[in-house]
Amino acid sequence: MQSDNDVVVCEVGLRDGLQMLPQFFPTAEKIAWIRAECNAGVGEIEVTSLVPPKLVPQFADSDEVVRSALDMPGLAVVALTPNLKGAQRGLALRVNKLNFVLSVSRTHNIKNVRREREESIADFQRISEMLRPQLPDNRPRLIGGLSSALGCAYEGRIALDEVVDCAVALAEAGADEIMIADTVGYADPSLVRKTFQAVRAEVGSLPISAHFHDTRGLGLANVAAALECGVRRFDASLAGLGGCQFVPGATGNIVMEDLCFMLDAMGLRTGVDLEKLIGVREIVARNLPATLLFGGLARAGLPRGYAPTTRHTEA
Ligand code: ZN
Repeated sequence: MQSDNDVVVCEVGLRDGLQMLPQFFPTAEKIAWIRAECNAGVGEIEVTSLVPPKLVPQFADSDEVVRSALDMPGLAVVALTPNLKGAQRGLALRVNKLNFVLSVSRTHNIKNVRREREESIADFQRISEMLRPQLPDNRPRLIGGLSSALGCAYEGRIALDEVVDCAVALAEAGADEIMIADTVGYADPSLVRKTFQAVRAEVGSLPISAHFHDTRGLGLANVAAALECGVRRFDASLAGLGGCQFVPGATGNIVMEDLCFMLDAMGLRTGVDLEKLIGVREIVARNLPATLLFGGLARAGLPRGYAPTTRHTEA
């Protein structure tokens, strides 16, 4: 049973981290990465993006990756979808969660998915209507993601009203969860508190999750602020991979290993075995030898005598 001490961490490196890579990350190695992280106890993994393969060749193997991930016990398999077509594929594949992203910044939404915000919201509504007739156990849960919600490389500061309005629009259109994303790493703990509290006040009991980038070094401070607001689900990527192809310098999701260490050290349960998680970096390192891998925990190791909150039990 979930308690207030349980936190879900979702690995997004396979999507956010690989989407701008020029080279193809081999399918078997993606699957090995997912399996290793699942074995380390990570409960959710965003394994791919359901975009047309012609647009992003990195995700041409989506079907195979999703099918393999769905065979892994206890893992919630998440796929990003930019539109209804992707959601239809996700439903046919029986993914556990579909992550639909709307950019609160109008300019970023147009650059990212080539449409107005209103068109994206209408598409979200159609996805929700498509999923509704499915039996609850049989349908993917629908995440309404708000990207560039805490700042935008084109528009700068985003008005809080706009974030709340977009969150309400997605909630009313049938989101099962609202995700607030700091796509370019502009947020600070004060802004996080204001934004998450304002959204919480308008979306009732819907779960709210957070997606932070560590572009300016405030990623984990923002996690701490979101925890205070009751957030219990966080995206992160192994070794801090990730960025946005339209935003120069927006490298790095928060580092999964460091996030899990912080949560564990605070007495929160993630289900993740920290040593095993660090071991997964080897898969990324051997496939991306030229990529800088971030992470304080991997660099320094666990503190002497550290007693983990999460006792990993694996058969
Ligand atoms: Zn991101």
